[in-house]
Amino acid sequence: MNPTFLQTPIDYLKGVGPNRADLLRAELGIHTYQDLIHLFPNRYIDRTRYYTISELERNSSDVQIVGKVTSLKMVEGKGKRLVATFKDDGGTMELVWFRGQKWIKERLKLNTVYVIFGKTNYYNGNYSMPHPEMELLEDHKKSLRSAMQPVYPSTEKLSNKGITNKVVNVLMQTLFLEAKSHLHESLSKPIIEALKLMPKREALLNIHFPQSQSDLAKAQYRLKFEEFFYIQLQLAFKNRTHKTKIKGYSFEKVGPLFNDFYKQHLPFDLTDAQKRVIKEIRRDLGTHAQMSRLLQGDVGSGKTIVALLSMLIALDNGFQACLMAPTEILSVQHYNGLIELCKPLKTSISLLTGSTKASDRKILHEKLENGELDILIGTHALLEDKVKFKNLGLAVIDEQHRFGVKQRSKLWHKNEFPPNVLVMTATPIPRTLAMTVYGDLDVSIIDELPPGRKSIKTVHRYDANRLKVFAFIRDEIKKGRQVYIVYPLIQESEAMDYKDLMDGYESISREFQQPEYQISIVHGKMKAADKEYEMQRFIKGETQIMVATTVIEVGVNVPNASMMIIESAERFGLSQLHQLRGRVGRGAEQSYCILMTSFKLSSDSKTRLETMTRTNDGFEIAEVDLKLRGPGDIMGTQQSGVLNLKIGDIIRDNDILKVARSYAWGVVKDDPAFAKAENQIIRFMYAQMVKFKNIWSYIS
Ligand code: ADP
Ligand code: MG
Repeated sequence: MNPTFLQTPIDYLKGVGPNRADLLRAELGIHTYQDLIHLFPNRYIDRTRYYTISELERNSSDVQIVGKVTSLKMVEGKGKRLVATFKDDGGTMELVWFRGQKWIKERLKLNTVYVIFGKTNYYNGNYSMPHPEMELLEDHKKSLRSAMQPVYPSTEKLSNKGITNKVVNVLMQTLFLEAKSHLHESLSKPIIEALKLMPKREALLNIHFPQSQSDLAKAQYRLKFEEFFYIQLQLAFKNRTHKTKIKGYSFEKVGPLFNDFYKQHLPFDLTDAQKRVIKEIRRDLGTHAQMSRLLQGDVGSGKTIVALLSMLIALDNGFQACLMAPTEILSVQHYNGLIELCKPLKTSISLLTGSTKASDRKILHEKLENGELDILIGTHALLEDKVKFKNLGLAVIDEQHRFGVKQRSKLWHKNEFPPNVLVMTATPIPRTLAMTVYGDLDVSIIDELPPGRKSIKTVHRYDANRLKVFAFIRDEIKKGRQVYIVYPLIQESEAMDYKDLMDGYESISREFQQPEYQISIVHGKMKAADKEYEMQRFIKGETQIMVATTVIEVGVNVPNASMMIIESAERFGLSQLHQLRGRVGRGAEQSYCILMTSFKLSSDSKTRLETMTRTNDGFEIAEVDLKLRGPGDIMGTQQSGVLNLKIGDIIRDNDILKVARSYAWGVVKDDPAFAKAENQIIRFMYAQMVKFKNIWSYIS
C-alpha cells in the first residue's frame, strides 16, 4: 500500500498539464488524484437510446442522433459561426460552432454517417445543437463505452476552456488505470457484511463506469451510506464528548417547589407530550453533564409550562434560573404569565429589558448577586456583563432563531461551569434535518396540542374577492373579535412594500371607519415607543384591527384575536406563513387564516398555499418547506456539512441516512475509542476526516 499515491497533485495526471490543473483546482476544488476520484457524477445519460430529429422535443437535453452532414457554411454577423445542415431519415436540423471552426472544417466529412450527441436548442420551429460531440458511426460501434454515461459537475468556465464532460471522462479512465490498486476499503468489515455493501473499489469503479443499472444502484448506495456514516460518526462523537467532558451542574433532587406546584397548582392537566418532555429534561438535569437541549413545539403547544417546571427544579437545588426572549413584548408576556403561575409559590421573579430604569436595575443586580432573586426574565439585556448571578444553574432561551451562537455562548460564562441550557423554538425543524444537524444538541418534541383547541381554518382567496373578506372581518369584529392584517416586507423591495402597506392601511381605514372601528398600525420604520404603544392598544382591545408588517411574527399573544389575513401570501415562505398563522387560535374561539393572493402564482407558491390550507401540523409544513427550499435556508445547516454532501441527499436518501445514523451512533456507543480491531479502519478514517475537514479527503 502506498498511502501517498492518491495525494499526488492533479498536475501529474496524464492529459492534465498546468493549465488544466489550475482550472480544475479553481473551478472544482480538485487538487489531487484523490479529489478527482471523488468527483461524483450528477447524473447518467442513457447512451443506448437514439433519437430521430422528428422525435425531438423542445426541452430535450443530451440526445444522440444518427445522420449525415449535407452542407457546411460560415455565417457572418454578430458572432461568426460555422453552421452545418444535419439530416436523418425524417428531418433536418443545424449543428453550430462558435469556436474551433477551422478544426471542424478540416475534419468533418460530408455525407458520411455520424452519431452526434449534445443538448438541443429550439428556435422558430427549428432545432439546433451547439458544439455537438461527433463520432463516425463505424467508430461509435467499435468504441467501448458503458451504456450509462456519467455527467460530471462542471462550470461554464471549464467547458469554455475545453474541459468538457468527455475530457473529464477520459481523465477518469486514465486515473483509474493507475490508481486501481491504491483504492482501499474505508468501512469496517462487520458493517459491510451486515449491509451487504459493495466494496469500496468496486463502488468507485461503478460510480464512474457503471456496467449495469443494478451495479450503479449498489455503488450509489454504498457511497451515500459511507458519506452519511462518517458525518453521523462525527456528530455522535461530538455528542458523546459533550456528555462526558463538559461538566455541568447536576440537579439531583426534585424538591418542594416542583412537587408543590406539580401536585397542587398546575392550572391544567399536562398533555402526554408535555409530561414526556419534562421527564427527558429531568433526566438530563440529574446527570453531571451540562444539559443542552432543544425543545421544539408548535405555537400553542405549551412550552412555557415546561420551562417553568424546569426552572423550579433548578430552584429546588439551590440554583437560579433565567428565561431569555427575543423581544421586549415577549419578555413582558412571559414575566406576567410566570408571575401569575408562581403566585402560590415563594419565588422571586424579576424582569430585565432595555427599558428597565437604571435605579431598578441597580437593585436587581444586587438581588441577583446576593441570591435573593430566583428567576430573571428578559431580553438579551440579560447577556450584559454587568448582569451577574450568584449561582445560575439553568438558562431557558425562547425562540432560538433570533439569537446567534455567540450570544448563547455568553450565557455559558455566567457561572463557573456552563449552566444547563434549554432552547425552545416554535419553528419546527424537520425531523429529517434535526437528525442530521443537531448531533450535539438533544432534541425534545411536543407534538400534541392541549385538548379542546380548535384548529385554525385556513383558506386561500384571490384579491378579487376582497369585498367578501371585508364582510367576514366585519362579522368577526361584531362578535367582539380582533383581526390581524399582515403585509410582506422584503428588503429588496422595501420601498414598494411600504407603499403597499400604506395603500392597504388607507383602504382599510376607508372601509372600517372611526369611531366604530379603531385600527392599529405597526411597522419597522416606526420608533420603538410608538410601536409599543400601538401594540398595547391592540393587546388591551382598544383597537380591533392590527395592520402590520411581519414584526408581529414572534410570539405575541392576544387570545382574542381570531383572524389573520395575510396579504400577498404568495410572497411569504412556508415557515413564515405558519408562524404568522400561529398568532391566532390562542383563545377559545374558532380562528381563521385567510391567505390573499393575486391570480398569478408560481408552482411553488401554489404548493405553499395548498400546504397551508391542508394542514396545521408544523412538522409536516417544515418537511414540505425543506423539499421546496432545500436545506440551505434552514438554520443550523451551514455548520453541519449537510450542504456539502457530494453524493447523498438528505431528503431523497433519507432511508439510507437513517441506517447510517444508527450504525454510526452504535459504533460510538459500543467502542468510543475505536479500540476494537474491526474498528481500526474507522479510527483511521475518522482521524483523516478531522484532519482534512472533509469526509472524502482521507487517504483511501
Ligand atoms: P407556546 O408553546 O407557543 O409557548 P404556551 O406555553 O404559550 O405555548 O401555551 C399556549 C397556551 O396554552 C397558554 O395559554 C397555556 O396556558 C395553555 N396550555 C399549555 N399547556 C396546556 C395544557 N396541557 N392544557 C391546557 N392548556 C394549556
Ligand atoms: Mg411561547
